[in-house]
Amino acid sequence: MISSENDQLISSTPVYFYDLNLLEDTLSAIVTASQSKQQFVHYAFKANSNKPILNLILKYGLGADCVSGNEIKLALDSGFPPSSIVFAGVGKTDDEICYALENEIFCFNCESIQEIEVINGHANRLNKKAHVAIRINPNVDAHTHAFITTGVNENKFGIGVHQLEAVLELIRVSENIVIEGIHFHIGSQITKMYVFRELCAKINQINAWFVKQGIQLNHINVGGGLGIDYDFPDVNPIADFQHYFNLFDQFIVRDEKQRLHFELGRSIVGQCGSLLSKVLYLKEGISTNFVICDAGMTELIRPALYQAQHQIDNYSSCNSKTERYDVVGPICESSDCFGRGVKLPLTKRGDIVAIRSAGAYGEVMASGYNLRRKVESIYSHQSVRSAIQNFSVN
Ligand SMILES: *Cc1c(COP(=O)(O)O)cnc(C)c1O
Repeated sequence: MISSENDQLISSTPVYFYDLNLLEDTLSAIVTASQSKQQFVHYAFKANSNKPILNLILKYGLGADCVSGNEIKLALDSGFPPSSIVFAGVGKTDDEICYALENEIFCFNCESIQEIEVINGHANRLNKKAHVAIRINPNVDAHTHAFITTGVNENKFGIGVHQLEAVLELIRVSENIVIEGIHFHIGSQITKMYVFRELCAKINQINAWFVKQGIQLNHINVGGGLGIDYDFPDVNPIADFQHYFNLFDQFIVRDEKQRLHFELGRSIVGQCGSLLSKVLYLKEGISTNFVICDAGMTELIRPALYQAQHQIDNYSSCNSKTERYDVVGPICESSDCFGRGVKLPLTKRGDIVAIRSAGAYGEVMASGYNLRRKVESIYSHQSVRSAIQNFSVN
């Protein structure tokens, strides 16, 4: 997009800004680190499903990880081959299952015994084979925020290891089910690499158990969850993919025919997006000063929902003096706060602040609460800093 158009859009805050150069650099780092090892990466659509972003991801040859029928439809409409699509989720509806069967997707990641029965029934009626992986809850603590942990026994996700025998019995008598693999996804924003090593150890035990039952699985899908650096997005704009993919390659014991699959969301799109917001008002409180923005939890709910912290920058202020502010939105909820005691250059009405690292689980979770209009987005080939600085001098 040419910069005068961007200028116009920057003035239409709140607006999501996407740095497509950073997205491309991230994708090429992923391709370099994974393809040499014959690993296949699916992109988790739920993190961000904007067309220009999907187009770039497709260009780099990634597959799709979908959690609804509409996501599968979007993947197909965007040109993702059916053979690259996996379908996860604890509550797949009958319509969604039939849609996925008719379109012959690569694999259903099955999350309960009853779901396998239902898929088999529909596949039988439609005269299709359903290729499935068993999503197993490995009971590994992801050491991330409790709200985004998915792989311990008390979570709703996956099938417990104690049920695997029953699953195999069911699959043996389900004529329209073909078992392809096993699937794991233990949580999101995982920054401690030893968590993934623990996962590998559990996977090895489970894979060995399948071999003992006489079942050679075609693939092992280790899910996603690789974290990003919310504290220092400019220092670490790209996650350490080399380390991540090497780790699984090194620690998962497998047959050379068994392929490793990944489902990454946040680490692909998280850092390329920022939420831009105009400062409406400054207000002096008793113990703190408030920057009141035109963006709120309706555009970015992560701080309110998960106590997430995002770096906040004010590039439009040239003031060398700094001040601490509570940066808040206009929504009628006290949790509508992007950060407390945030150090910013002296800020005034009309400044544009950038709430960084908002590319994943940002725009997709926007809501219309308070009858807010739907947030728009800008795609750029410059960094958010230079876009705002260029805008400010105009
Ligand atoms: C959300 C999700 C992912 C992606 O997780 P990230 O933390 O964004 O990498 C992968 N697999 C499944 C099954 C998911 O639900």
